[in-house]
Amino acid sequence: MEKPKLTIDEMAAFCKRKGFVYPSAEIYGGIAGFYDFGHLGIELKNNIKQEWWKTFVQRRDDIVGIDGSIVTHPMVWKASGHIDGFTDILVDCKKCGMRYRADTLIEDKLKIAADGMQIQEISKRIKESRIRCQKCGSELGEPKRFNLMFTTNVGPVQSSSSAAFLRPETAQLIFANFRLVQENARLKLPFGIAQTGKAFRNEISPRDFLFRMREFEQMEMEYFVHPEKYDECNFIDDVIEYELNVLSAEMQKKSQNMQKMAIKECLSRKIIKTKWHAYWLALMHKWFVDLGADSSHFRVRQHVKDELSHYALDTWDLEYEFPFGWKELQGLSNRTDFDLKQHIQHSKTDLSIFDEETKKKIIPHVICEPSQGVERAFLVFMFDAYHYDKSRDNVVLKLHPKLCPVKFGVFPLVSNKADIVKKARDIYDELKQEWACIFDLGGSIGRRYARADEAGVYACVTIDHESLEDEMATVRSRDTTEQVRVKISEVKDILKKFMEGEKLSKLGKSVE
Ligand code: ATP
Repeated sequence: MEKPKLTIDEMAAFCKRKGFVYPSAEIYGGIAGFYDFGHLGIELKNNIKQEWWKTFVQRRDDIVGIDGSIVTHPMVWKASGHIDGFTDILVDCKKCGMRYRADTLIEDKLKIAADGMQIQEISKRIKESRIRCQKCGSELGEPKRFNLMFTTNVGPVQSSSSAAFLRPETAQLIFANFRLVQENARLKLPFGIAQTGKAFRNEISPRDFLFRMREFEQMEMEYFVHPEKYDECNFIDDVIEYELNVLSAEMQKKSQNMQKMAIKECLSRKIIKTKWHAYWLALMHKWFVDLGADSSHFRVRQHVKDELSHYALDTWDLEYEFPFGWKELQGLSNRTDFDLKQHIQHSKTDLSIFDEETKKKIIPHVICEPSQGVERAFLVFMFDAYHYDKSRDNVVLKLHPKLCPVKFGVFPLVSNKADIVKKARDIYDELKQEWACIFDLGGSIGRRYARADEAGVYACVTIDHESLEDEMATVRSRDTTEQVRVKISEVKDILKKFMEGEKLSKLGKSVE
């Protein structure tokens, strides 16, 4: 079996053909940076979000979740710095008016990191390297700053006092609600508050399918610690041997390649400065790998000095090797007490908490803010699951069973025998109470298996003539095409065990 490297456009075409993702309102020509999720896409997206929530909120004692509003009080964005500083630099073509995000244009043309590059430097580079319009070849104008927030008006009257913003990230409501959540959930440091939901950014040039959108979803968490206990991470032993591909700021300065390292080495060599930051990097990486992503496609890269946001003490990105290069999948920043202090100052509300141990009031520090885009995670799982199987002559989408948009397919071998159809339907009716399933009558059994493989259906159950005699069904594995006969009365239990990792050959009688 070979795994050709798909381009992002080929992935977009596959997603459209199978019902995962469509350009939004395509009948009207679509709208750049917006996508709609189809019948399979919504299931996959929901599964990703659910797995994240289960792993980082429900299964932990130290983290709780919230769900803040999308249209948020403008002062939240004043305090966070978004109104004044959430900008990208754009350049436009003097002739055709085509607009470019200046740092990505420089990165594409000069193959250097330009995130965080100042406006004067950008202008200089464009002139020196004679970078011109990619569309018509004309000269580009002077770079200028552009705020990425979408504005709207609250209430019937449009005025400057009714202006509000669609949130460009989910995290700020965690800070605005910090005291209430901490008190109500009786949280004691160290603890985290998580939130998932929509975010909106008026990106200058949305591109690469779901990678850079104008409306997307985030899964974010703020993990708070005592300011003097940066290194007291009780969980570090869980990940101490865990290995990551690491590219530190120092290594980038020396033009070195990434290096595979265990967390203990990252800490002993002080490559990752705090145990907490190392812990969250390992855990977020592990989350992807546990859900079937290929660990060799990931690395963690530290922000170099120029890239680092003004509020961040240290930032590492979890990066993935997309077909268009290594790109940020998730940002993990040490934001210190920047946000809480900003909200204390602007709201004139005390957001400090009382520390029982030291008997002092303190403002906790965000030792790490893992911020993950749902759609970028969606792309990762799709790329790593996508296999073209030569012998089957179809795509097999090898998604982890927890992520499969449809877990099982139930097929009557023939569609014109009422008792076979009924028996299959009864099984389907039982299975769909628990899992997303399909019932497929259309075309040859081979066609139906191929369709199921392409949709990532984990296993198929087929009822044939013999089933009427022996009360047995055939279960076929998506990944191996192995088939076993099992008792119809045990189908549900067997599928459950198969999904949990038991071998199909141990669960039924092999079909030659
Ligand atoms: P980039 O440098 O790619 O613009 P960023 O550093 O602005 O990303 P953050 O503000 O750190 O991104 O956002 C956290 C996460 O949200 C990103 O790692 C990514 O997964 C997701 N994200 C951000 N912007 C977009 C977007 N326009 N489309 C899809 N996902 C996004």
